[in-house]
Amino acid sequence: MHKTYDFLIVGAGLYGAVFAHEASKAGKTCLIIDKRNHIGGNVYTEKVAGIEVHRYGAHIFHTSSKKVWQYVNQFAEFNRFTNSPLANYKGELYNLPFNMNTFNKMWGVTTPEQAKQKIEQQRRDSYVEKPRNLEEQAINLVGLDIYEKLIRGYTEKQWGRSCRELPAFIIRRLPVRFTYDNNYFNDPYQGIPIGGYTAMVDKMIEGIDVQLETDYLADKAYWDSRAEHVVYTGPVDAYFNYQYGVLAYRSLTFESQLLETNNYQGNAVVNYTDLDTPYTRIIEHKHFEFGTQPQTIITREYSAEWKQGDEPYYPVNDAHNSKLYAQYKQLADAERNVIFGGRLGEYRYYDMDKVIAAALSRASKVLREN
Ligand code: FAD
Ligand code: UDP
Repeated sequence: MHKTYDFLIVGAGLYGAVFAHEASKAGKTCLIIDKRNHIGGNVYTEKVAGIEVHRYGAHIFHTSSKKVWQYVNQFAEFNRFTNSPLANYKGELYNLPFNMNTFNKMWGVTTPEQAKQKIEQQRRDSYVEKPRNLEEQAINLVGLDIYEKLIRGYTEKQWGRSCRELPAFIIRRLPVRFTYDNNYFNDPYQGIPIGGYTAMVDKMIEGIDVQLETDYLADKAYWDSRAEHVVYTGPVDAYFNYQYGVLAYRSLTFESQLLETNNYQGNAVVNYTDLDTPYTRIIEHKHFEFGTQPQTIITREYSAEWKQGDEPYYPVNDAHNSKLYAQYKQLADAERNVIFGGRLGEYRYYDMDKVIAAALSRASKVLREN
């Protein structure tokens, strides 16, 4: 007879790892399985040439929750990295997010009052009371010049469609500041775990059984027989055999290079905001940790149309997919002894801190009841 567990956790990403940690702390037995050959899910980092490489794209931890910040600090020490990406438009460099440095470079203005006047003047002709799409929202926020040079190309590459067809909310989360502050995030807590995210997740699941390269859905009945409860963090539509149809995603491809120079671009993240450059950004990993290695590793990130079988990255929360997800959510809620969580299980764009908060809250509820 195989050992049975209180919880089978499908997915060794942040949601699964946090849930497993909490359950195990409460005295429950857990088995984590993941179809990949490593733990960490999308926050996975691996050391190459002495540099922690973010395999699934740049991951910067930031949060406004003191509770979540204290929680992650149990498992890793964080450095003082502050995300201040640059935008490269046909060789012209601008600071992001949109702030006084950006406005000064774009228009030569030096005071907040001048910058506001310039934006006001730029949007006078096109202002709409209730923006219906991303283009209208962007011009309302920062005017036509910034929209044309720093938003349109990047956004259309990233989402594969016109800014007029995209929802306004995508751009709403980008800060616009009238101070000379290049910090991309407004959150009070920010940093990168020293030693990488993989080490942090490893510490979270210390002492818990883990089995990699194991696909739950390939033998669901067997895995279900191994535990009282299942925590499922894979795609919700796959769990239900796509019975209502396939939920759409945007995918990404990454192209990494080890270069014989100690500093390629002088910054961790440079966005390419013109339409002609095929990639959206270049990440230089060593700058996340103030690395002094003799070599460097860069990754070009390309946005890609997603088809079944590709790695799913960003849920497409348009009307069609939101409706489809609502149908799956009904099935998920009715499924006994299975908890659906995380960015794929809940079909949600979740930042790391939000996924941790969600796992903590769900674990606390489930562990109280069981
Ligand atoms: P995942 O990490 O995807 O984990 C799910 C796991 O389940 C995977 O390992 C998968 O292999 C496994 N799985 C799926 N199906 C099965 C199955 N059938 N059987 C077994 N295992 C299965 N957040 C931030 O806060 N800051 C950032 O800077 C940031 N940058 C990002 C950049 C990119 C390009 C992307 C895509 C996301 C970024 N995020 C960022 C979000 C962050 O990656 C997520 O919040 C986090 O990884 C979600 O964790 P999760 O456990 O829900 O999902
Ligand atoms: N964005 C942009 N230009 C940039 C960076 C971002 O127009 O140089 C827009 C784009 O529409 C993007 C949105 O802002 O989808 C959110 O950007 P963010 O970097 O927060 O998204 P992420 O790629 O990290 O999910």
